[in-house]
Amino acid sequence: MSEYRRDPITGRWAIVAESRAARPNEYLKRVAPSAPEDCPFCPGHESWTPPEVAALRSPGSAANGPGWTVRTVPNKFPSLAASARPDGRSPRSEEVDRRPGYGVHEVVIETPEHGSRFSEFPPETAGAILAMARDRVRALSELPEIASVITFENSGDESGGTLFHPHLQLVALPSVPLSLAEELSGARRYAAARSVPCALESVVATERAAQERLVLETPTFTAYCPFASEYPFEVRIVPRHHAGSLAEATDAELDGLSTLLPAVLRALEKVRPMASYNLVLRSFAPVDRLPTEYHWHLDLLPRLIRPDGFELGSGIPVNPVAPESAAQELRGALGDVAR
Ligand SMILES: [Zn+2]
Ligand SMILES: [Zn+2]
Repeated sequence: MSEYRRDPITGRWAIVAESRAARPNEYLKRVAPSAPEDCPFCPGHESWTPPEVAALRSPGSAANGPGWTVRTVPNKFPSLAASARPDGRSPRSEEVDRRPGYGVHEVVIETPEHGSRFSEFPPETAGAILAMARDRVRALSELPEIASVITFENSGDESGGTLFHPHLQLVALPSVPLSLAEELSGARRYAAARSVPCALESVVATERAAQERLVLETPTFTAYCPFASEYPFEVRIVPRHHAGSLAEATDAELDGLSTLLPAVLRALEKVRPMASYNLVLRSFAPVDRLPTEYHWHLDLLPRLIRPDGFELGSGIPVNPVAPESAAQELRGALGDVAR
């Protein structure tokens, strides 16, 4: 049983989820990659997970058995529970604000192949995973009292991930997290001050003109290292077409992303072999109440260094690789790894 707790001074929320301690390998970081025979996401082990909520399957294969290529299941160790839907009776006062840990936590198992990486996926595999992510964002957005869907992939020892088998996660929340709310209010402020319709498109136009932080451009997406990158080799991937959520992405856009995303990940792995990373979707939900000023995007956040006391104390990350140098290295690597 988990709960949201709000700090009485800063107003920031935390999720206290004691059951998460039961996650596999929680206290055993840097364990050797698990073997397929012990892996709950490998084919043949479908009964080890809760029953699937969606799957791309070969014709004739039965649900919760082998024969899938992409499979979505509820998280067996969720941070939040759908059964904890608030009843309005939770104690709230000036001093104490705690609420049941309502939310939905799903896992998209990206492939039956245990040791593979997103960077290695051919476009059709990457495209099927992205289409599943879009469809699950849509489905979770329609649930009652859901205000945002956080979508992410953890990859590697330093990413916080605990299972070796490649998977995405979706966490649907009853509130808009402060970081997303701040990004939206910043986008509104920027757009109003400059009389532009979309802040992110304006920033992307500046980056395309300047070139120095560009990583890759395609007809549907622009990838660049943000001017104030917080992480070394951070890459922001922005669709050309304006939309507030991945839920609105077209098949043509997902086709474009299914080539671009593995290429950018391969470039990162070339410049920093075995780099851990978090891939985070910045996207609003539900789709019927999208803020018109927000433009969805993906942030690739390589985890090459750990924050120190200054960074935790100040909230100011120290990035030892200038985004201009990072972009130059990634462009060079892309030249080498281009198909
Ligand atoms: Zn596996
Ligand atoms: Zn836009």
